[in-house]
Amino acid sequence: MSRTQTRSSNTEALSQTATLAAVREIVGAAHVLVEPADMAGFLEDWTGVYRGDALAVVRPSSAEDVSEVVKICAAAGWAIVPQGGQTGLCGGGLPVAGRASIILSLSRMNAVRSIDLAGRTVIAEAGVVLETLHEKATEHGLVFPLMFGAKGSCTIGGNLATNAGGSNVVRHGNTRELCLGIEAVMPDGTIINALTGLRKDNTGYDLKNLLIGAEGTLGIITAAVFKLSAMPLTRTTGFLSLASLADAPRVLNAMQDRTGGAVEAYEYMPASAVDVICQAFPDTRRPLDSPAETGLFFEVASNRKDDAELDEAGESHLQSLVFETLEELMEDGAISDAMIAQSEQQRLDLWKMRESILEAITENGPAYHMDISLPLAAIADFVGAMDTTVESMGFRPLTVGHLGDGNLHYALSAAEGRDWNTLPLAEAKEEAFALLSRLNGSFSAEHGIGQSKLDLMAKLKQPSQLAAMRAIKGALDPAGLMNPGKFIPDPVEPTGGR
Ligand SMILES: Cc1cc2nc3c(=O)[nH]c(=O)nc-3n(C[C@H](O)[C@H](O)[C@H](O)COP(=O)(O)OP(=O)(O)OC[C@H]3O[C@@H](n4cnc5c(N)ncnc54)[C@H](O)[C@@H]3O)c2cc1C
Repeated sequence: MSRTQTRSSNTEALSQTATLAAVREIVGAAHVLVEPADMAGFLEDWTGVYRGDALAVVRPSSAEDVSEVVKICAAAGWAIVPQGGQTGLCGGGLPVAGRASIILSLSRMNAVRSIDLAGRTVIAEAGVVLETLHEKATEHGLVFPLMFGAKGSCTIGGNLATNAGGSNVVRHGNTRELCLGIEAVMPDGTIINALTGLRKDNTGYDLKNLLIGAEGTLGIITAAVFKLSAMPLTRTTGFLSLASLADAPRVLNAMQDRTGGAVEAYEYMPASAVDVICQAFPDTRRPLDSPAETGLFFEVASNRKDDAELDEAGESHLQSLVFETLEELMEDGAISDAMIAQSEQQRLDLWKMRESILEAITENGPAYHMDISLPLAAIADFVGAMDTTVESMGFRPLTVGHLGDGNLHYALSAAEGRDWNTLPLAEAKEEAFALLSRLNGSFSAEHGIGQSKLDLMAKLKQPSQLAAMRAIKGALDPAGLMNPGKFIPDPVEPTGGR
């Protein structure tokens, strides 16, 4: 190493030491982790696929601290990667190689600041675990309806940053629709405080909605105000076997019409998905005696007293409405079999089964996961055509989905006796995304882009939309410090010519 090189790396080390000292000054030495053993748990995520390296893991406890840390890092030219519960499935919460980065973990910002019972809203900090927010709402007889398998680990900051969906979107919408305002630290360290909880506020650009779903590339969300819903007084939960996937929209609409739009979950669970779950978790009880090729798990819920009233047989009014609808649908051939949970335990067992699918597919072996959405009317065409195509290539499709929202989790695994490493995955993906585009679908429904879908963004997102995204990013984060290497693909450099 030359003398000049030694001097320059010493200067770098010096400025690194000085920068870390300044960060320690803000958040406290105990909350700046630099030892590999201390950082290890923050450098990988749930998928086990992604890994990243960082100069430090910084754990602030307030928006003001985040603001100061951002200013210090910006001065040093360090990238900042916000991190919540590390359950993201696209590698968004880990630094990419080649950038001096810190991980900014929001885990200490985990207070539920206040609940407004009159307005039915809650203000929670970014590091609050989703399930904790469920419990807080329940204590007040209310519900925070965002619901999915990672609820015990994911945080509301991560939910906002990925605009998470889950099983109740059909009634309550994505995280975006549940959020009334945010507090966030922008790339220059300024704090935006928009936690008024107003349902109407047309005073300029909707900055909240720019940051929601931006995966930490435009700023760090430190808190949010969310809508809460009334606690259902009665629920009817069950499992259906449909004659054909093409009937699914008709069955959904019939249930919605009869119950006044009370469908909370409408989830596609074909026999192959139930099989994989039963294999991974042998104590799972199959919902129906015979396998349902087109299985559907549903829940209908109401907070109307009339719907909760019981008849002589002990059936709620809501349950009778569902029964009547199912009977009609059975008569006209759309449904071939059905079960309704007869106890709270049976209901919880059905939910547990639904929520264990991702772990079950992971246990099953290597798989390529697609998180796609389609118009409801095109779902059956997609599944029918793709299943035939990929089965002929040696794959076993394992599909579940939030069908009520047109969202499929379409996973490709190896068919029995086939070696995953020899299967034509690139060809299968090509076919799937071409068909998806023809059917006006989206290649990322709810999990986001992160690192894993940058290639699809570059290939399938409209150039005009990518240009607008780059313009926004350039205006708010000109130095490109916020979660670089994710979400927006680098522009393709023109090659050759003038
Ligand atoms: C078993 C399982 C089931 C799942 N089911 C669903 C599902 O049904 N629907 C669904 O939508 N997702 C699902 N997911 C994906 C995942 O849980 C969600 O994406 C979740 O919202 C991520 O939250 P997190 O706190 O773990 O964020 P992380 O994984 O830590 O981060 C995710 C992204 O958000 C950014 N980020 C985190 N916190 C902040 C912040 N405060 N400010 C700015 N950016 C931030 C990160 O930089 C990263 O880009 C599932 C995951 C698992 C493991």
